[in-house]
Amino acid sequence: MTDYEPVIGLEVHAEMLTESKMFCACPVVDSTEAPPNTTICPVCTAQPGVLPVVNRQAVEYGIKVGLALGCTINDFNQFARKSYFYPDLPKGYQISQYEHPLASNGRLDIEVDGQTRRIGITRAHLEEDTGKNFHVGDCSLIDLNRAGVPLLEIVSEPDMRSVEEVEAYARKLRAILVYLGVNHGDMSKGVLRFEANISVRPVGTDEMNTRTEIKNLNSIRSLARASRYEIARQIKLVKSGGKVIQQTLGFNDDTGETTVQRSKEFADDYRYFPEPDLPPLLISRKLVATIEKTLPELPDAKRARFIDKLGLSPQDAGVLVADKANAEYFEATLKAGGDAKTVANWVTGELFKLMNAAGIEIGQVKVTPEALVALIKLVDVGTINTTTAKDVLAAMFETGRGADAIVKERGLAQISDNAALEAVIDKVLAANPETVQSYLGGKEASLGWLVGQVMKETRGQANASLVNRIMRERLDAMKA
Ligand SMILES: [Zn+2]
Repeated sequence: MTDYEPVIGLEVHAEMLTESKMFCACPVVDSTEAPPNTTICPVCTAQPGVLPVVNRQAVEYGIKVGLALGCTINDFNQFARKSYFYPDLPKGYQISQYEHPLASNGRLDIEVDGQTRRIGITRAHLEEDTGKNFHVGDCSLIDLNRAGVPLLEIVSEPDMRSVEEVEAYARKLRAILVYLGVNHGDMSKGVLRFEANISVRPVGTDEMNTRTEIKNLNSIRSLARASRYEIARQIKLVKSGGKVIQQTLGFNDDTGETTVQRSKEFADDYRYFPEPDLPPLLISRKLVATIEKTLPELPDAKRARFIDKLGLSPQDAGVLVADKANAEYFEATLKAGGDAKTVANWVTGELFKLMNAAGIEIGQVKVTPEALVALIKLVDVGTINTTTAKDVLAAMFETGRGADAIVKERGLAQISDNAALEAVIDKVLAANPETVQSYLGGKEASLGWLVGQVMKETRGQANASLVNRIMRERLDAMKA
């Protein structure tokens, strides 16, 4: 039986976080919050006789992304009209780029199962977003706040071979956009949208078969689910002797299935032609060089530095850099005097566990980097042990209060007072004569058990190494 593999390419639409829209001065607002049709003007509502003006910031952001993805930034850029009718597109066409995009021929390295794979980037081009339709009862309402918001469409080569690679690519691209400060990455606001082009072929061949296109996937989870479903559907179809038809599909998040939106027996004819209202956009090498100097440290470079310079494990480094805000939090703890490896353990372990349980991001966490370092110091100097520190962190996470105050208030400080510990040790020895005898008879493990009893008596607050030492002294004294 032939085995099949998927061939997947992704188109990602990323809103650029500019102040104003792509071709007019209207502000870019959160389209899930702003009252409908409040940030519109004659240009973005397509009134007769208006003229578009290119947003310089959007072009510069696009160049940033192109450079971060190793693309060639093209000197000669031209905007083009992509003609199609849709109610939320008042002009009847979208200003996009076609033959002369901003950036081309780049790559994105992803890691899946410890293997690095290079995914080609075909192109990245600028265009404008459409408005939004709302269907209420038997009415359709249109909000044009989003019409004209700058979009960068990033198109990959069909280089992905599994759903895991698709997810890794989407995550990595999102991280890079956030690191660059050109997109805030919050997919619940629709600022990042995916389309997957999927076909299947027998493993070991390089056939490029008929593909389907799944539109409008608004989260990485939906992207993964839709891809998984579509790959299985196509393989089943082909194995049973059927043929994949070129189609545009939608994904239903409730049923988890793809559904046909339209068949594409003929290629779309958008009748592209150069936008007559905009002259070609010429990009100087000087501008590109200036922008290149402003590129921040990107996830791969940061990860390498965390491993090489800070001695973190590849695992911890990878987890920390995957999200810019997490990486910044970690670096702030180092500035506050934390030891890199210890802090990395606490952040990727206990702190992430608490964040997952509460369903929040690092930006909402009440424990400041300084407060986390202060907690770790209490463990280092022996005021509390690690087990207690975990409880203290949970309380800090809940209340935002400092470790010192919580330890004091709850009386959690380790008992390091010899007299107090000796009293408990004597009590344990007196209560367990048989175990004492077995130790004296040569069974070393009995010591650990007795120490455990002391820890239990003190609700884990005894300084374990001190207990160990005193206990051994006491027992050895009995031997003599
Ligand atoms: Zn406008």
